[in-house]
Amino acid sequence: MSKATQTFRPGLERIAAYRAGKPAPAGPDGRSVKLSSNENPYPPLPSVVAHLTTVLPEAISRYPSIAAEELTGALARRFDVSPENIALGSGSVEVAGQLIHAMTAPGDEVMFAWRSFEAYPILVRVAGAVPVEVPLDADARHDLPAMAAAITERTSLIFVCNPNNPTGTVVTEAELDAFMAQVPSHVLVVVDEAYVHFDRSADSPSGIEFFRRYPNIAVLHTFSKAYGLAGLRVGYAIAPEEVAEALRKVAIPFAVTRLAQAAAVASLAAEDELQLRIDEMVAERTRLTAALEAQGLTVIPSEANFVWLPLGEATADAGAAFERHGISVRAFAGEGVRVSIGDPAENDAVVAAVVAEGIGASVAA
Ligand SMILES: *Cc1c(COP(=O)(O)O)cnc(C)c1O
Repeated sequence: MSKATQTFRPGLERIAAYRAGKPAPAGPDGRSVKLSSNENPYPPLPSVVAHLTTVLPEAISRYPSIAAEELTGALARRFDVSPENIALGSGSVEVAGQLIHAMTAPGDEVMFAWRSFEAYPILVRVAGAVPVEVPLDADARHDLPAMAAAITERTSLIFVCNPNNPTGTVVTEAELDAFMAQVPSHVLVVVDEAYVHFDRSADSPSGIEFFRRYPNIAVLHTFSKAYGLAGLRVGYAIAPEEVAEALRKVAIPFAVTRLAQAAAVASLAAEDELQLRIDEMVAERTRLTAALEAQGLTVIPSEANFVWLPLGEATADAGAAFERHGISVRAFAGEGVRVSIGDPAENDAVVAAVVAEGIGASVAA
């Protein structure tokens, strides 16, 4: 094949493709355990599957409703906001992209903590904006005072990922209030609450309450993590009306399929049942954390459906060791390993791999 002679957009070569969690090769016992994408280990709820079956034929041959009246209405009632405050997307990652496209001019700055969600810098660069990464503090938490100090006249958007992916840490309500007092009102602060259902800390801010309290807050939610719909792709923002309207303008038409809408509606109707699973995952998080600490590992206390092992220079070796045992995790070389919470057997497999390989032993020593 001949080499492409077309010209690509300048700067595109500096944009990394999103690195998705890989399935692990089978381990010694023939099992492959994927704990690299923070997915929900449970199968979909029977009530959700039953509802999908009823809409399936139409859902395939017809375009979905762009307004998604039923889902938008259900979300508005669930959070006691106006339907005008809601903007949907094909996963909240698309909504994050909408926010950047709608709010930034070329060269505008979009700030976020680092390390945080890997999609942020990619989405920002694709939109032609400038990512501003503010390092997490020594406890792997957002350094909100440093973020406030990094605001410039070019700042248009700030993401606060709470709980933070991949460290699982949270900001407190008082910290976020103090931060908001320093953010000019023309700068929109996006509280990305992809993992909010797993957050058990007493002093965490509620994104929705902050949305009600400040005119420049948007909240991002997803059905992918706690509700187990990652494959169907549906997320949303709750935002000031003018912002939500702008998001709908830049949204990809028909990106939220009828199946995704139907599954989301059915999931909202089954929140009690889903809550039991969330409670299970939180209990497993506690159990896994204790078991890993018992092996001498440092585990950052997590409020999400994953744990963060700050292994530093030992990270790459640890990632490879997990793979040898058929477990895929997310390893950020030189920084640490993120391990999603799986079902009890999968979490046992994580501990068994740590014991067998002596993962972290050199760090603990
Ligand atoms: C997983 C994740 C999302 C969104 O996932 P979607 O599947 O696109 O809804 C958003 N933010 C963070 C921080 C995440 O980890």
